[in-house]
Amino acid sequence: MKILLVEDDQALAEALKRALEMHGQVVDLITDGAQALAWLNSEHFDLIVLDLGLPGLDGMELLREARAGGHQMPVLIITARDAVPDRVAGLNLGADDYLVKPFELDEFLARVRALYRRAQGRGSDAVELGPLVFEGSKRELRHGDHVITMTPRETALFEVLLQQVGAVVTKQQIGDSLFSIDNDAQLSAVEVYVHRLRKQLAPYGLSIRTVRGLGYMLEKPE
Ligand code: CA
Repeated sequence: MKILLVEDDQALAEALKRALEMHGQVVDLITDGAQALAWLNSEHFDLIVLDLGLPGLDGMELLREARAGGHQMPVLIITARDAVPDRVAGLNLGADDYLVKPFELDEFLARVRALYRRAQGRGSDAVELGPLVFEGSKRELRHGDHVITMTPRETALFEVLLQQVGAVVTKQQIGDSLFSIDNDAQLSAVEVYVHRLRKQLAPYGLSIRTVRGLGYMLEKPE
């Protein structure tokens, strides 16, 4: 999952970015509200973590503009303003959840994961795919009790394909989900990761089909 983290407190922002990345998420960090809005309009993100007090454009205003512009991804507001009116205003503007600083990293990660899951329309965390079960909260793919070892990038790739199992996912979509904006390795690397993941899944009868000129498709098992 690709996250836009909008936070101008450098120390906090770096800590959150690191924690998310350690859990395999792709994070683009931006400290300015106006710039964040520009990014939103040019890149795909699965979720926004949004501070309210921001230079450039206030977080509330950013949220209002994002929703008005048709952006539907879940938004988690993180703020020191714990006053009830702010909270209500944020939720009214279309925030999905609210976390008051200071908070525990574990709590933060759990909220991010829960929001994402809700947005995917999955109450339960586990997705079955043929003989395999993918447990989103642990980011774990299992065959019975055996955990299939995958790198964070392979797991991210698997998640992207799993979201649209049986349908074609373009190389660009995969690249956008796997790499942050400042990483331009991108499209050629996608092939490498698909190749590796394909080898990982093959023994379990799962295949990733290359749809020439279009992208890749995780095929539904028979
Ligand atoms: Ca701030």
